[in-house]
Amino acid sequence: MKRGHVPRRTCRECGRRASQKELVRLVMLDGVVSEDPGRELPGRGVYCCRNTQCRTRLEKNKKILRRAFRLQFG
Ligand SMILES: [Zn+2]
Repeated sequence: MKRGHVPRRTCRECGRRASQKELVRLVMLDGVVSEDPGRELPGRGVYCCRNTQCRTRLEKNKKILRRAFRLQFG
């Protein structure tokens, strides 16, 4: 990795690309979408903008969640 390289992540909801710091990592814990502030929780994670709109929409978007976390809903 180059010095000064900033990892870029993409918001799963709106597709915005931003540095890892600007986005929040979300993981699925016991069927609930939870934040992973330290990026240390195991399992698959998705990145999302730190704003309520993206967060809410992502949490309601079963299609994205199912694909991201390989879950079955209903
Ligand atoms: Zn977003």
